[in-house]
Amino acid sequence: MKFSLVNGQRQEAQPKLTGICPACGAFMTARCGRIRVHHWAHTNQGRCDPWWETESEWHRGWKNQFPAEWQEFIQRGDTGEKHIADVKTKNCWVIEFQHSAIDFDERISRERFYQKLIWIVDGTKHKGDIEPFKKGFIYGQSPDPLSPNKYRTFFPKGNLLKNWSESSGHVFFDFGEEHPLWWIYPGSNETYAYIQSITRDQLIQSLQEQSVSGKNGFDALIHDFESFIKRCEADPELPRLQRLKDIQKG
Ligand SMILES: [Zn+2]
Repeated sequence: MKFSLVNGQRQEAQPKLTGICPACGAFMTARCGRIRVHHWAHTNQGRCDPWWETESEWHRGWKNQFPAEWQEFIQRGDTGEKHIADVKTKNCWVIEFQHSAIDFDERISRERFYQKLIWIVDGTKHKGDIEPFKKGFIYGQSPDPLSPNKYRTFFPKGNLLKNWSESSGHVFFDFGEEHPLWWIYPGSNETYAYIQSITRDQLIQSLQEQSVSGKNGFDALIHDFESFIKRCEADPELPRLQRLKDIQKG
């Protein structure tokens, strides 16, 4: 973890410091070696948050785009369940940065627990994973010339889309600095998916900005995406979607 409580204050790891875990109250030791990012580890291997993923430079790079007080937010559920969210914004969006593959059941559990959830997924682990997104822009349909960065794709291919397209959270794939982020609208599925490309800065700024009545910030981006989806779904020139839906139902 990036923060631990030292004399009751959240503090980053420094050599020889000990702290208390803000989530479970156990002792923590600062780990400041040369290989991994400086972090806090539980002194005794105990069961803290089973959803916690070992942090990489990639995690830290993302987390540091947001104010320190938003990072490692301890979210308590109604039943007393507790988890450490990577980031929680002023508009109560929880952002989870996912570097390694995630088990299907755990993904669903996290989506249920956090509800307003944004996943940022490291897409650089397998070289070919970006290809279906690039192809989508060639073969996908963007019936609205005003929305060239959004499209609908049929039978999305590739492991990332297969694993994530049914997520109830907003999923963003990060393929490295030289590429835009690819955003999959929640509730896409293996028959079709709605996809938008967006720059890092646009996403980060929208999440930092506090939304008032849904008119700005990330809520406004969602609204814009939904307008596009509604126009697509209403377009009589594109009957294939309905047909595919019927096939799926039947
Ligand atoms: Zn702990």
